[in-house]
Amino acid sequence: MKFELKQHFQIESARFLPKLEKTHPCSRMHGHSFKIILTLIGNMDPTVGWVIDYNEIQSRMKPILEQIDHRVLNEVPGLENPTSEYLTKWIYDKARAVLPTLVRVTVAETPATECSYPVA
Ligand SMILES: [Zn+2]
Repeated sequence: MKFELKQHFQIESARFLPKLEKTHPCSRMHGHSFKIILTLIGNMDPTVGWVIDYNEIQSRMKPILEQIDHRVLNEVPGLENPTSEYLTKWIYDKARAVLPTLVRVTVAETPATECSYPVA
């Protein structure tokens, strides 16, 4: 029996987008409270009645999120141009290595915007 799980995380990070015109506000250093949503699909383990322990997801994500929480994203290797697209892919690649049932990462840089990878 398959289920889709989602778990939300939040990080606070600073960034600037170096490829934009200097007149664009995002070319200046600024901060975001990024909301990160992981989507996992897996079979329920009938012994315990769940797919995976949410605490287990949290502990596997901790060392990944520590690399980008309260950091200047531009200084993180692989995030020299830290758009939401690159950030979403960066998180997915690292998280997928420790969470094999991960199917999607969504990053919301504001309450009104979301970026997801990969696309279903
Ligand atoms: Zn921004």
